[in-house]
Amino acid sequence: MITFKDFELPRKLEESLDQLGITIPTPIQLKSFKPVLSGKDVMGIAQTGTGKTLAYLLPILKMWKYSKSGAPTVLILVPTRELVVQVSEILESLTENLSTRVLGVFGGVNINTQKLKFDGGVDILVGTPGRVLDLAIDNAVSLKEVKHLVIDEFDEMLNLGFRHQLTHIFEILREKRQNVLFSATMTDAVDEMLYEYFNSPQEISLARSGTPLEKIVQKGYKVENFNTKINLLKFLLEQHEDFSKVLVFANNKKHADYLFNTISEWYPDVFDVIHSNKSQNYRLRAMKKFEEGEVRGLITTDVMARGLDISDVTHVINFEIPEIPEQYIHRIGRTGRADKEGIAISFVTAKEEVPLLEIEMLMDKELAFEDFPEEVEINPKKIESEKEVVKMKNPTKAPNIELGGGAFHEKKAKNKKINLGGPTKRKPPKTKPKNRGQQKQKARKKK
Ligand code: AMP
Repeated sequence: MITFKDFELPRKLEESLDQLGITIPTPIQLKSFKPVLSGKDVMGIAQTGTGKTLAYLLPILKMWKYSKSGAPTVLILVPTRELVVQVSEILESLTENLSTRVLGVFGGVNINTQKLKFDGGVDILVGTPGRVLDLAIDNAVSLKEVKHLVIDEFDEMLNLGFRHQLTHIFEILREKRQNVLFSATMTDAVDEMLYEYFNSPQEISLARSGTPLEKIVQKGYKVENFNTKINLLKFLLEQHEDFSKVLVFANNKKHADYLFNTISEWYPDVFDVIHSNKSQNYRLRAMKKFEEGEVRGLITTDVMARGLDISDVTHVINFEIPEIPEQYIHRIGRTGRADKEGIAISFVTAKEEVPLLEIEMLMDKELAFEDFPEEVEINPKKIESEKEVVKMKNPTKAPNIELGGGAFHEKKAKNKKINLGGPTKRKPPKTKPKNRGQQKQKARKKK
């Protein structure tokens, strides 16, 4: 069993944990530790009660170094004063034996009294966005030294209308910093902020329990492009009656709509689509129709599918490969629930082989590829996102308005400059390793 000893924390921190009677990491703590420690941007999906606070505090405390300037190097933003108090208290008990200076600040109390508290220097500042911003504007604290920004309860923060304060704080902070975000849910507002202000943070969430991967048959087809994928889907539906409850994942709502509209021309009323632009009533109706077998398939996006508990899905189709490997596991976990076997089929273009590789490494399992059926017509017509050739230097600051509202995963796709063609025509780029073994080695080195 893994204990906090395996985290190799500073001895004094380990002692503090011992004193608190905390010895065994929770799943979110296990999963977050290395990614946060690596210094990369991380987006953790975890509810209160899962141990999420320590999930970000421990790696950050492990990384923490004394800074002479007296300005905070860690900034933790939380939505409410209660949380400021709670997080500061945990931090204080953890750092009891360390020299780290912790300060919690929140609105509704005299700002001048709070300003005095910065006199002796502060290493870790915990606060609500409004008050932190006011203190920074008044020069009571410099945020220029912040190397690690944590935003806890990101969804709640946006629900409470802190978006403006947050973006203002981002402007003050230096660009080169680590962003660690935690949210109980992946709302559209969170998704939009990620898309605009962050560079595809690594997503950490806990795969739904009760869906062992072994129970899911995972297959793949290499497919030329999006439009040919539609032909393939149509073919599979025609050939196999047992595709009776099919959940189809697209990477964003624009693609979901395009797929839905095209497939509905052939099969009116056989599919439905849900994504965040559909009204709540529409979504509920579509879900019910799918659940009750009135439609054969439901097209959806990752954001929308979160929390959906639909029984007896016969097939999950990854119409597009998600860029975040965890997402794949969430998706395929929709089939093979309870004591049922499930089938997950991925449609993979040449460009999508890289994210697929990451997924295979995460699962330590390779997809079994089937031959592309000869009967399926190749449709060379490119969709909008496949045509794009513009390379953006700084995608975090320059969201593509044309595709506005899409999930943040689109960013990478938009930056792809070349169309490698389909499996028949494809020439691997020069830098790409020749076989999957070499690809894996390369990907491992990257990690
Ligand atoms: P949180 O989800 O961060 O709000 O934490 C919920 C509660 O779980 C807090 O009271 C923590 O002190 C406690 N806690 C966090 N991690 C652990 C752990 N690994 N073992 C036992 N208790 C923990």
